[in-house]
Amino acid sequence: MSDDDAHRTRTDQLHFQDPVARYPSISPPKQDQPEPGLDADLVPKADIGEFSYRGTGRLTGRKALVTGGDSGIGAATAIAFAREGADVAISYLPDEQPDAEKVARIISDSGRKAVAIPGDLANASFCADVVNKAADELGGLDILVNNAGKQIAVDGLEDLDDDQLEQTFQVNILAMFRTTRAALKHLQPGSTIINTTSIVAYQPSPPLLDYSSTKAAINNFTKNMATQLASKGIRVNAVAPGPIWTPLQPSDGQPKEELPEFGQSTPLGRAGQPTELAPAYVFLASPESSYVVGATIHVNGGMPSP
Ligand code: NAD
Ligand code: MG
Repeated sequence: MSDDDAHRTRTDQLHFQDPVARYPSISPPKQDQPEPGLDADLVPKADIGEFSYRGTGRLTGRKALVTGGDSGIGAATAIAFAREGADVAISYLPDEQPDAEKVARIISDSGRKAVAIPGDLANASFCADVVNKAADELGGLDILVNNAGKQIAVDGLEDLDDDQLEQTFQVNILAMFRTTRAALKHLQPGSTIINTTSIVAYQPSPPLLDYSSTKAAINNFTKNMATQLASKGIRVNAVAPGPIWTPLQPSDGQPKEELPEFGQSTPLGRAGQPTELAPAYVFLASPESSYVVGATIHVNGGMPSP
């Protein structure tokens, strides 16, 4: 059976099941995609919930922007939000047009409005433009998911050039300041901001020195913004994924030789699939998490985390 066919037959996320066996432990063949990588070219295919995520009306009528919503965790979140009743804008890099079109189609097929906004978040003015465009086209904004990220593995500090260092900080953390600042004028009480951090914020990965540092900064930013915005009725929280099978990994996100074992050392013994992250974002976006502020949900297969 092809991976797509396997994903087509999966039960929905509310079906009682053994988390060890929900997905097979994958052993991705060594592969190399140019950055930022395409979901369409991943081997094996990742599960973004296209066939399985079942909504229960938890985000009815909400308007969301998900950065990096074309693939991986962002795509799974965008699809789940639409299935829960939200209209969704996704941002992505122009090279990711095929992935973005697929996710936009899934959102539309779920009966919700889809807005696709290409552009580079390393560009300061785009960070404001993407938020304003999403709010214009959706007729408002009440959920911002800061999820786009850049991750390039290098052997050591001596191999980390200034271009990579600056780009990683631009995309992962400086853009988050800028999109959040631009969103403030749109967000009404009850709105939520959700930032994607990582297990490596707590357990730094040596080949990901720059990336891990940005994720630690995201944690601090999240808690600080949560404090600043709580009295306005805007909740800010984070999701910290462990090893999840997405295009980030084979586009230089991991040393090539480590791909076949990706995620196997977690207590669950397998990598996570993007759609397994979606319920955490849905929970933090929905009014049911009204007293959850400045928190981090760890979705990492059991890796010890604070
Ligand atoms: P992904 O490649 O599917 O998504 C990352 C997205 O970031 C890309 O689709 C791209 O649209 C966007 N992006 C990258 N550079 C950009 C730029 N310059 N301008 C605009 N957009 C840009 O991979 P993913 O794993 O789903 O990553 C989503 C988030 O999850 C990232 O923040 C990543 O750090 C985080 N994360 C991933 C893992 C994992 O194991 N996959 C683990 C922990 C955290
Ligand atoms: Mg992508």
